Amino acid sequence: MALLALFVGVVGTLAFQWSDRSLHGPALGGTGSEDDVAAVLAAQPATSVLLDADSRVLRASPDAYPLGLVRGDRLSPVALELIERARGDGGTVATEIALARAQGPELVFDARATPLSRSRVLLLAQDRTAAKRLEEVRRDFVANVSHELKTPVGALSLLAETVHDAAGDPEAVRRFTARMTIEARRLADLVQEIIVLSRVQAPDVSLAVEDVELDQVIAEAVDRVAVDAREQGTEITIGGVSGLHVRGDRSLLTMAVRNLLDNALRYSPPAAPISVVTKAAHGSRATGGNPVGTVSIAVIDQGAGIHSADVARIFERFFRGDPARSRDTGGTGLGLSIVKHVAANHGGDVRVWSKVGRGSTFTLRLPESAVDPAPNTRGER
Ligand code: ADP
Repeated sequence: MALLALFVGVVGTLAFQWSDRSLHGPALGGTGSEDDVAAVLAAQPATSVLLDADSRVLRASPDAYPLGLVRGDRLSPVALELIERARGDGGTVATEIALARAQGPELVFDARATPLSRSRVLLLAQDRTAAKRLEEVRRDFVANVSHELKTPVGALSLLAETVHDAAGDPEAVRRFTARMTIEARRLADLVQEIIVLSRVQAPDVSLAVEDVELDQVIAEAVDRVAVDAREQGTEITIGGVSGLHVRGDRSLLTMAVRNLLDNALRYSPPAAPISVVTKAAHGSRATGGNPVGTVSIAVIDQGAGIHSADVARIFERFFRGDPARSRDTGGTGLGLSIVKHVAANHGGDVRVWSKVGRGSTFTLRLPESAVDPAPNTRGER
């Protein structure tokens, strides 16, 4: 694959050089300003292709080849159409063009074709594929968020009407206002998770990076779910290697572990044990506090497990294996998506092993920072 990329790059460069010779030769008539033209084209960010009167490529910036805009001395058919339109109109034509690829999604360009003297045409194409994908993801996110917010807001407004109608029945009022409190909490959780997710999924996320002790992160995460665990009669045990450190954002890491624990509780029957086990990859110890090796935090439950068809989708935003169960237990469908982004922001990842009826293990892996020279193995506590 790398060789192919190299080959394409070399072909592109040679073609550019060949075209460059054409540019300095008879093709442009040697006016002396070609160097400036070439410099201007090279300095601007768009991919440029100069075509002769027969729509053959006279000159192209090197990236035109790997992007598939140019093959040999020919422009791709969809770009050629634009050239013909510009010739027909006698002026600049701008449009969006999409290039299909053998593998992967199509490439999208903002393209402009401008007729020049002697029937030549200049094509400038700006690759907008990544920006477009980001726009789609944003639009999708906003649509999902609006849909998800409607459920608790609708429930609250219905309950308010019901309370109003039951004003003379104190028992009914008590019952419905208790439901309102639950819906209001759900709404608050959802809004909070949406805020966190939009922060951690931003491409330029800024983390409050510091040295973080995993023991503290785990203790705090366990503490935050302690009330729910007690209610469920579930014991959470902590085991593995203590004294491990990472560099990162303590509150985000705590939230990631807490989300995994929330899920382990949510999708386990009462009193089914849950454990959190920390490990360091072999040979990962180093001096100087630089990131080395990998540390992992596994949250292990013996709950419902996940259908193999769902496993690939559980880290997607708003995906829920069983929407009714997730909602009933206060799930938002955002928990794992947040975990995935927090892991990625810290240069790590999250993996899952699961079997229906047996349980699930979610493993958060992070680059280790070797601050504590003597980590020790602890028993479960
Ligand atoms: P939710 O708020 O619905 O829990 P998540 O993003 O945290 O959203 O999880 C997505 C889905 O993954 C859940 O709806 C559930 O189907 C599945 N899931 C997550 N964790 C577990 C687990 N520990 N055991 C079983 N299923 C799980």
